[in-house]
Amino acid sequence: MPRMVCIDCGAVEYEASSLHSMLVKMMPHYLDRHHDVISGEATEPRETWMDRFSLAYKAAEEQDIHFSR
Ligand SMILES: [Zn+2]
Repeated sequence: MPRMVCIDCGAVEYEASSLHSMLVKMMPHYLDRHHDVISGEATEPRETWMDRFSLAYKAAEEQDIHFSR
């Protein structure tokens, strides 16, 4: 299963079989540590954050495929 660290601090790591469930698993951590991202108060637009998140998940997926071969 793809494993991914928090794209904003790298302090936690989760594994999830889809981008959506990765978002769901990360959410409590974001509420706790990166509340500005959730609330939209961060200087970075949420779309940009979502792009970074998607890219990080895709990279995790590719690594997962690579290592399970
Ligand atoms: Zn974090």
